Amino acid sequence: MDRIDFRSDTVSWPTPEMREAMANAVVGDDVYGEDPTVNELEALAAEKTGMEAALFVASGTMGNLLGILSHAGRGDAAIVGKDAHTYRYEAGGMAVLGGIMPTVLPTDEFGRMDLERVETAVSPQDPHFPITRLILVENSYGSKHGYPLPPSYFSDMKTIADRHGLALHMDGARLFNAAVAQGIDARQITQHVDSVSICLSKGLCAPVGSVLCGSKELIAKAHRNRKLVGGGMRQAGILAAAGLISLTTMVDRLHEDHEHAHMLAQGLAQIPGVVIDPQNVKTNLVFFHISEAVDITAVEIGDQMREKANIWAGDTGQKSFRAVTHYWIGEDEVQLYLDTLRHILERTIL
Ligand SMILES: *Cc1c(COP(=O)(O)O)cnc(C)c1O
Repeated sequence: MDRIDFRSDTVSWPTPEMREAMANAVVGDDVYGEDPTVNELEALAAEKTGMEAALFVASGTMGNLLGILSHAGRGDAAIVGKDAHTYRYEAGGMAVLGGIMPTVLPTDEFGRMDLERVETAVSPQDPHFPITRLILVENSYGSKHGYPLPPSYFSDMKTIADRHGLALHMDGARLFNAAVAQGIDARQITQHVDSVSICLSKGLCAPVGSVLCGSKELIAKAHRNRKLVGGGMRQAGILAAAGLISLTTMVDRLHEDHEHAHMLAQGLAQIPGVVIDPQNVKTNLVFFHISEAVDITAVEIGDQMREKANIWAGDTGQKSFRAVTHYWIGEDEVQLYLDTLRHILERTIL
């Protein structure tokens, strides 16, 4: 039996249609700009995000890094949330490779930075301070319930950015989840930012790849920076072929993942020993924990879930879990997750 993997949407395999398209992709040398499939993907990603141009890159981390390096440089500062992916989970790339200093701000329970604090975090014109050049935002917000933030938040942020001459970059690894959850077009969100990096490999199921989208000028800089970090790929059309299917057919089904996540959250709330507020689940990420009173660790539960049902549950700490729905998780898998966890906790509590 195949493993049932709830740890992330990054574990999603390419669909049969993607494998077929990859096998038959027309390719060229993308470092020369001659791969027609990559060019088609970049044009489509630019259109879907309402940007002038786009660049296919190896990962979301690379998309963010190239975006950041193209907006700011050595001695500059970027304002960023303390639990943003770009700050916490990208190996410190902006500092290590760009010499860019993060100015870190707290975020609320949905991942928003306080607008007044953003404004006061912009450094004054004074040689004591690094020069603030950039604000980094994220949507959906991965570490806060995968919460889909509304366009109004970004439009307010853009007003501040404009007032101080700053660029606004969005980590849109799950941009389309955020748009679908709000029933809006992704462009209603991205119209307020200067650049956005989207992942094709998560809920959209492509095996590899992200796209950085922005102005022609920004993408020209990012193109150079991609070469600099060794990210120039040759017959990358094999990968882009899957990405085209991501953008043309997989966005419209993301609501199914959200429904499955909602179903999982509702079910979890009924299990004695589980602590969760299903209201917070708006996209495909489900965060929950096990009550302190229950004498079992998340790792022990994870081991038992694997042994009993080949479910990879997504334990993330002493008592905490993050379960993620995606293309390969259906209603049956959600039900099996709930039944298996209920069984384990019932035996522990009794
Ligand atoms: C997954 C993810 C990324 C990029 O991840 P890669 O593994 O480098 O593709 C960036 N930001 C967020 C919020 C993510 O969830």
